[in-house]
Amino acid sequence: MSDQGFTTAIVHSDRRAGIEHGAIHKPLHPSSEYAFNDARELAAVFQGKSGFTYARQGTPTTAALETKVTAMEGGLASVSFATGMAALTAIFFTLLKQGDHLIASQFIFGNTNSLLMTLAGLGVEVTLVDATDVEQVKAAKQANTRMVFVETIANPGTQIADMQNIGRWCNEENLVYVIDNTLTTPWLCQGKKMGASLVMNSLSKYIGGHGHALGGMVTETGLYDWQQYPNIADVYRNGNPTSWGLTQIKKKGLRDMGGTLSSDAAHRIAVGAETLALRMERSCTNAMALARTLSSHPKVARVHYPGLPTHPQHKRSQQFFGNHHGALVAIELAPSIDVFDFLNHLKVFVLATHLGDTRTLVLPVAHTIYHEMGPERRALMGIADGLLRVSVGIEDIADLIGDFAQALEKAG
Ligand SMILES: *Cc1c(COP(=O)(O)O)cnc(C)c1O
Repeated sequence: MSDQGFTTAIVHSDRRAGIEHGAIHKPLHPSSEYAFNDARELAAVFQGKSGFTYARQGTPTTAALETKVTAMEGGLASVSFATGMAALTAIFFTLLKQGDHLIASQFIFGNTNSLLMTLAGLGVEVTLVDATDVEQVKAAKQANTRMVFVETIANPGTQIADMQNIGRWCNEENLVYVIDNTLTTPWLCQGKKMGASLVMNSLSKYIGGHGHALGGMVTETGLYDWQQYPNIADVYRNGNPTSWGLTQIKKKGLRDMGGTLSSDAAHRIAVGAETLALRMERSCTNAMALARTLSSHPKVARVHYPGLPTHPQHKRSQQFFGNHHGALVAIELAPSIDVFDFLNHLKVFVLATHLGDTRTLVLPVAHTIYHEMGPERRALMGIADGLLRVSVGIEDIADLIGDFAQALEKAG
């Protein structure tokens, strides 16, 4: 991201483009269609020249956000989507074909797991492995393997994939390597440094950050040479081969599938992104303090947090992310405590399914997001029945610790 620091570059990003009236934000463009005075120019944009035609393929407002996230990730280019799930759908469904094989971490977000099952139903082979160990990933390789997918810190179990080693191996084997960076954001982790070909960020979470806009982003890192990839359509095999993948994702995944980010949401996300570093730092610090306090509480059975020395990938977390370890804490209460009773006593924590908000949110995952999966699949994914997912916000830490303690007290 240029020669400037992370936050300096974001907050000055729009202004540098030289906006009319000295505006500090790019204007919000609600137009569905973009008109041309010259028919040749119109045809040129349809044929690949950069420009805007119909808002299903993006607007100047979504483009401004794409520029910001590309810079944050140190990538080549990005394409935005209506949600993180729309972005993941575009990646999997435009780059994989029937008969291809995908290796994915078994520790992933429940809805992503469900999406992969849909993919499997359409004839893409999917193998789930313990991606905290590169050897398990290697062992799953078949002749038809095309892609490997992991999350940086897994939602909700906080397992950390063996990302760098997997990246090196994918590079040797010519496999497309997709990293879901949602839980860490580019402030903690740049997918490119882990060797990713493509990085997905759900903008609905920390990057937007205020629980008022949904979005998703796919960033091409430039590390993968798409000449080696058989599933790129001939029409997209021109220009720089490191950008063919994103072109296909944009054409087939955005233009054809239509999960487009609105200008309005893009603008709100862009404003939220300006304070990403401040919010993440505060939330990570809060999460560390909460995890530390609860790990010695007699009514708490287990705390899963990469910042704790007891976490199986604590060293890896320090190596990849430094002094901050994300803001998601997974908690198992003592078996004697009625989880629902406990939740009903919380006053500051918000009982809601989301994460990456300024507010601290809590959810019993086995009964909600992972309910549909049943006990066997939950066990494979490391989801205990009483597991609480806590997305730690930016509140004053004493209020969070106090609220948790009083609810534990009342729950018996
Ligand atoms: C929430 C989430 C998604 C999906 O993002 P949406 O914007 O809610 O569709 C994908 N991956 C991870 C790790 C998530 O936490």
